[in-house]
Amino acid sequence: MKTVVLKFGGTSVGSIDRIKKVCKIIASYKKKKNKVVVISSAMSGVTNDLINKSKLISNNFEKAEYDALLSTGEQVSCALIAGRLNHIGFKSRSWQSWQIPIITEGPYSSGRIKRVIVKNLKDYLKNGGIPIITGFQGVNNKFRLTTIGRSGSDATAIMLAKFIKADECIIYTDVEGVYTTDPRNYKKAKKIEKIFYDEMLEMASLGSKVMQPTSVQDAKLNNIDINVKSSFILKSGTLITGSKKAFSDQIITGISSTKNDAKITIVGVKDRPGVAASIFKPLSKNLINVDMVVQNISLNGKETDLTFTIKSDDLQKTEKLIKQNKKISFKKLSFDKDVSKVSIIGVGMITAPGITYRMFQALASKKINILVISTSEIKISVLISTKHVKKAISVLHKEFNLD
Ligand code: ASP
Ligand code: MG
Repeated sequence: MKTVVLKFGGTSVGSIDRIKKVCKIIASYKKKKNKVVVISSAMSGVTNDLINKSKLISNNFEKAEYDALLSTGEQVSCALIAGRLNHIGFKSRSWQSWQIPIITEGPYSSGRIKRVIVKNLKDYLKNGGIPIITGFQGVNNKFRLTTIGRSGSDATAIMLAKFIKADECIIYTDVEGVYTTDPRNYKKAKKIEKIFYDEMLEMASLGSKVMQPTSVQDAKLNNIDINVKSSFILKSGTLITGSKKAFSDQIITGISSTKNDAKITIVGVKDRPGVAASIFKPLSKNLINVDMVVQNISLNGKETDLTFTIKSDDLQKTEKLIKQNKKISFKKLSFDKDVSKVSIIGVGMITAPGITYRMFQALASKKINILVISTSEIKISVLISTKHVKKAISVLHKEFNLD
């Protein structure tokens, strides 16, 4: 008998009708003689609504109470699912994280699941029950409720799959899976059948918000295959895995792009040891995330230019920090707010030569100027003007046979 973990996201349980639909999906797994464990998010909008309420009470809401408040959304959706399953003739009950318990470590609002005590769950499954478990939360060693970060129900599902030794973990969401690029940017985007954890991590952290990156990391660490599919239509989804079995020989798996990046160039900084560190120290202290960094070769051996990217929201603060920085001197500071990073991602590039050239050539053929370049083993990123993003994605999609 197989054990399957099914996770449903907020839109999948977003209304009473949706919850009834989801219960049919759960029932179909149960009828195939599986042991079925369900993790649910709050109904869509509920967590946001709770956050707004907390702000009306206090803009400095006490941290433990904040988590106690935010964790209530999942209690509602889980009880509704269990209630509906009972109604259609299945043995089911809701489990709040502290009842299992799901034990977390770390600060409130961003805890990590450490352990899940599965003894009672296992007995319940053996007796034919379907446990419906609150995602996104746990209990700490002070017996206080905790939450594990927005969209954390994915991580709950992965950790449940790990501790219960599930055969399958299926993430039901409102998209059909992971796409070669954002379908809103490019109509010919295609659903990816299989993707490696590392590729998914790059895609996820670069903006394709199908799954929370930390939960993909958890899945990778614990070697748990994840199936992402839609709860709205019956179609196969995307398998996120570490196994090389039955992968196509595609070199590039996907293309991602960012929004709201800004580029800063500091012209004429001293070219000596410690200068870059002096520039970035105040930024890191102020939690400003620096992404791409390039330093030009210094022509006269004395001065150089340094270019880096940050989120546009941080631009004003960054400008101020650089101007106030007494440890550095420079000639000029220049900014560009309308830039985006476009990346091609694929483990296939480790062994295939000439990918960098093909990318640059394709962009050149559309007269797209590259501002900054960075590469890793499985990714090449270029910074370009935001107005060229759609054109860049379409030419790269074609170049790497993703159409
Ligand atoms: N309900 C939580 C949120 O909206 C957790 C989740 O959806 O996974 O962030
Ligand atoms: Mg959600």
